[in-house]
Amino acid sequence: MREEFLPFTRPDIRESDIEAVVAVLRSGWITNGPKNAEFEDELCRITGNKYAVALSSATAGMHILMKVLGIGPGDEVITPSLTWVSTVNMIVLSGATPVFAEIDRDTLMITPESVNKCITPKTKLIIPVHYAGAPFDIDGIRAAAGNIPVVDDAAHALGTFYKGRHVCADGTGIFSFHAIKNVTTAEGGAVVTDDEELAMKFRSWKFHGLGVDAFDRANRGRAPQAEVISPGFKYNLTDMQAALGLGQLKRLKEINTYRETLALRYRELLKDVSGIEPLRDPEGYDLKHAWHLFIVRVVSDKITRSEFMDKLKSRNIGSGLHFTAAHLQKFYREDMGFKRGSLPNTEFNSDRICSLPLFSGMTFQDQDDVIMGVKDVLKGN
Ligand SMILES: *Cc1c(COP(=O)(O)O)cnc(C)c1O
Repeated sequence: MREEFLPFTRPDIRESDIEAVVAVLRSGWITNGPKNAEFEDELCRITGNKYAVALSSATAGMHILMKVLGIGPGDEVITPSLTWVSTVNMIVLSGATPVFAEIDRDTLMITPESVNKCITPKTKLIIPVHYAGAPFDIDGIRAAAGNIPVVDDAAHALGTFYKGRHVCADGTGIFSFHAIKNVTTAEGGAVVTDDEELAMKFRSWKFHGLGVDAFDRANRGRAPQAEVISPGFKYNLTDMQAALGLGQLKRLKEINTYRETLALRYRELLKDVSGIEPLRDPEGYDLKHAWHLFIVRVVSDKITRSEFMDKLKSRNIGSGLHFTAAHLQKFYREDMGFKRGSLPNTEFNSDRICSLPLFSGMTFQDQDDVIMGVKDVLKGN
């Protein structure tokens, strides 16, 4: 057994990142400023979008999104139930109704067909998720959406490519830089888009609804008497965080390449292990996976998912659960009236998925320990 606990993830933070944060601390300008601007430029370079606006979290981005699109009571927003619940919470807090599209059983992503079934005259927005780092069928979903806006939940998808282009390219998407994501600023997020007006609105809404932010006022000769255009939030990223993320953005390829090596090695080493089932890559289009998560479904009749996770933990191996379906959670069942039985593929996975350790600081030896632990636990030991 391992001596030391192996977490399911750990951020990729090097000495150079620490120095970059310290340099901001010494600079006298610690909240959003030049490092935010550099961070946004680097994001645009990666995704190919014209605009990026750094935010305090992806959840903040979803909150602003509801406001700038004017989503409210009487409107419907289509999203999967198997997602991080913050998106669904933001839909509900806006006063709109979440409509859950069913997912493919083995990719965990909504499909053009499942989206089609959910569209009504009240549909105002569709938020599909690029799950675990694989891309959803962007062209298919956009075609199904017609004139309804599609905004990608790209929280797992920095470095994910669809048909040779980065996801969100020529569209709009929201990234997360929470501590567990491939690139982290501890807490953080960003919206990327080609729509200049939308980008301007995000920039204003993230900072009180002013036409300009404090950095603009101090450094870019903009009017210090900037006025509120419409009341906004306080959802900006600090420069300490932007500096932390910037180094990781610059080595994104290196980080994701190693994650891919580990993921493909998992697939190979787990190929003949019965009792767990990995996900399948979506079919029908060329893709590059960002490998944010390596998910398996516990399908053994000897052991439940929670026993599987507990037993791995007692062997000093961490794991994660991404995610429990939103419609199965207390508020959504009891207050919103969602019922088990309505989304079979979603529920099948919600009950069985488990994320195995996957991060750039992990060694092959660590991974061999995971494989040994998994095999041992599945044998009933
Ligand atoms: C992490 C995550 C979010 C939220 O990101 P935050 O930055 O923590 O707000 C949204 N959607 C998905 C699918 C996520 O994994």
